[in-house]
Amino acid sequence: MLEVVDSSDKRLQAFKNSSLSKKKRLRTTTARSEAMGKVRKAGTGPELAVRRVLSDLGVRFTIQNQDLPGSPDLANRRRRFVVFVHGCFWHRHAGCRKTTTPTRNRVFWVQKFEANIRRDQRSVRALRRMGYRVLIVWECDTRKGSRLASRFATLLS
Ligand SMILES: [Zn+2]
Repeated sequence: MLEVVDSSDKRLQAFKNSSLSKKKRLRTTTARSEAMGKVRKAGTGPELAVRRVLSDLGVRFTIQNQDLPGSPDLANRRRRFVVFVHGCFWHRHAGCRKTTTPTRNRVFWVQKFEANIRRDQRSVRALRRMGYRVLIVWECDTRKGSRLASRFATLLS
């Protein structure tokens, strides 16, 4: 439920298996790319839930992390860990019922999701090179507060 390190490689692989062939790809228009460009919003419900769990555990973190690769939702530079709270749909939570693919404009969506996964991978790799532990919390798991708390307690103790 709380993933440590780079699970995104597997995620991309799983995603690619169900993906489109190269020649079917279409070029996205600039306007579309811009409209869809910003995937994550700050301070969403799931993110607030994770903040609360960590605060209750007495774990300190910052929420302004644009200086770090991928702008992690939470970070502690001294203790060298970051937390991403990933929306299941946008970041393609494998096996999750929220991970659907719209049937309209399917090519566009598939490319969009691929790009998201690649971006996630790049961020994780860069952070790990900097010595950070990368923790990923999936949106659908943020409702299981007490389980999340015990996982965090174990990982960050
Ligand atoms: Zn999920």
